[in-house]
Amino acid sequence: MTVARSSFSKDGDTRRHVVVIGAGAVGSATAIEALRAGLRVTVVEPGEPGGPQAASYGNAGWLSSHSVVPPALPGAWRKVPGWLADPLGPLALRWRYLPRATPWLLRYLASGWTEARVQRTADALRTLLVDAPALHAGLAAEAGVPQLIEQRGLLHAYRSRDEFDGDALAWRVRQRTGVHWEEWSADELRRQEPDLDARYTLGIFVPEAGHCRDPGSYVAALARHAQAGGADRLATRATGFRIEGGRLRAVLTEAGEISCDAAAICAGARSGALAAAAGSAVPLESERGYHVVVEGAAVGPRTPVMVADGKLIAHWMNGGLRAAGQVEIGGLEAAPDWRRAQILHRHLQSMFPALADTAGTTTVKQWLGHRPSLPDGLPCIGPSAASADIVLAFGHGHVGLCGSARTGRLAAQLLAGITPETSLAPFDPKRFG
Ligand SMILES: Cc1cc2nc3c(=O)[nH]c(=O)nc-3n(C[C@H](O)[C@H](O)[C@H](O)COP(=O)(O)OP(=O)(O)OC[C@H]3O[C@@H](n4cnc5c(N)ncnc54)[C@H](O)[C@@H]3O)c2cc1C
Repeated sequence: MTVARSSFSKDGDTRRHVVVIGAGAVGSATAIEALRAGLRVTVVEPGEPGGPQAASYGNAGWLSSHSVVPPALPGAWRKVPGWLADPLGPLALRWRYLPRATPWLLRYLASGWTEARVQRTADALRTLLVDAPALHAGLAAEAGVPQLIEQRGLLHAYRSRDEFDGDALAWRVRQRTGVHWEEWSADELRRQEPDLDARYTLGIFVPEAGHCRDPGSYVAALARHAQAGGADRLATRATGFRIEGGRLRAVLTEAGEISCDAAAICAGARSGALAAAAGSAVPLESERGYHVVVEGAAVGPRTPVMVADGKLIAHWMNGGLRAAGQVEIGGLEAAPDWRRAQILHRHLQSMFPALADTAGTTTVKQWLGHRPSLPDGLPCIGPSAASADIVLAFGHGHVGLCGSARTGRLAAQLLAGITPETSLAPFDPKRFG
């Protein structure tokens, strides 16, 4: 079904008017689905939809329906000091930010304390991600960019069986949610990935997963599609809400009030203050991440690949070979620490040693983005405490591109007053009290 252009003039428009705050992957999908549900839509976004201010721009593009395991697993606390001490490690902490981050970090570690807790999170996330590649392929086709979504599987590369066994809990949990995979021996891995360094001797290939070739362009296309379908766009920042007797009357913005019947908060890592203004103070934190894109690279993976030693993902994007990863806890305002991006570049060169041969003819671009993360590894999707007219739809952490298609449908159903197609109980913002 495609989004129909409204035949109503705005003046005589009797449709329920909803404001979608933020045009990243989640907001853009929500806008499309809200139009499909017959709502009048205004999108409020200060930047260019899909622009570098959004996490949706620079991520690794994994549509990993199997990424259901939260980053904090049982025993993670034992590994944290080692990761922090390793200058090339995947985790960094801005020490000045530690007092602010400590409550979040403790909840984060606690949520992965036992396998049973991890399984509960995984079962919930699976409902959001299970058919993500197909949903995104549908959205991309509708938006005129089908070539941006590939459904050819994803690869995890390990140096040894022992290293894989170290991840056994995560794979066990995934298997219980219905994820299947193929094991590639060292020979098969060499055959499939001839440029990958020979230290990787075991491949775990997940056929059901997909990939986006250019997340920024994809989100921009979704936003254009919403506008073509009748959504208005205001280039300003939302600042709060006018709520009377539990009903939303208007969204407040830097450019004035927008009268409306309902609103969705899809502002990614910057959603916290808006959620608090809607009565729902949730512990949202930025897990800062980086990417490098090597333009002009001549070698790289055939299948998008994550390596267990560097915990980074590498694959071709339209602009070149991208490596994305790293978790840095340091808040939204601290300046980028480009050494984190250089670590990714060094790992990428060690994954594909022949890259060094073309170093003189390549250009490297780097980027910092903010994963919107809640400490239990699940997003908030549900009504706010102050008004059921305000829907929270943010906090997808490491899987927000992947989860955006289903989230857009669920958020639109809430905005339209329709019973959501899957249970939202695990994502209820009230779980934080
Ligand atoms: C390095 C890295 C790699 C990643 N890899 C993957 C991956 O492979 N697969 C995956 O699924 N996920 C991945 N992620 C996570 C994913 O990118 C995010 O979870 C997802 O993009 C979040 O989407 P969003 O729409 O919620 O937020 P965003 O994309 O951040 O969009 C939020 C939008 O809201 C706007 N906004 C902010 N404040 C306001 C306001 N007050 N008023 C109006 N608008 C506002 C912003 O300008 C922005 O455009 C990765 C993230 C990083 C950093």
